[in-house]
Amino acid sequence: MILDPDKCKGEVWEQISRRFYQCSRNAKKDGYCMQHHPGEIRKRRDKRLKKWDEKWERNQRIHNAPFEHIKYLEGLLDNQCIEFKRWED
Ligand SMILES: [Zn+2]
Repeated sequence: MILDPDKCKGEVWEQISRRFYQCSRNAKKDGYCMQHHPGEIRKRRDKRLKKWDEKWERNQRIHNAPFEHIKYLEGLLDNQCIEFKRWED
């Protein structure tokens, strides 16, 4: 593959032809466009990992939610018991 020195060194996967092509964007930094610059890719990856961490934390909270729900239901049952006692009176 002949690399165009003015173009980004990044490769783009084309699903249809199942081939890698040289990125068609103009090289902006170290021979890469901002999309394919390794530093930018790392920055994006870190951002994504941080997002994943947040998502995982949120999932943990959802995972623990059923217990909160059971507590809530137990609370409702307690209230119902009081109602029953009232009926018996
Ligand atoms: Zn590129």
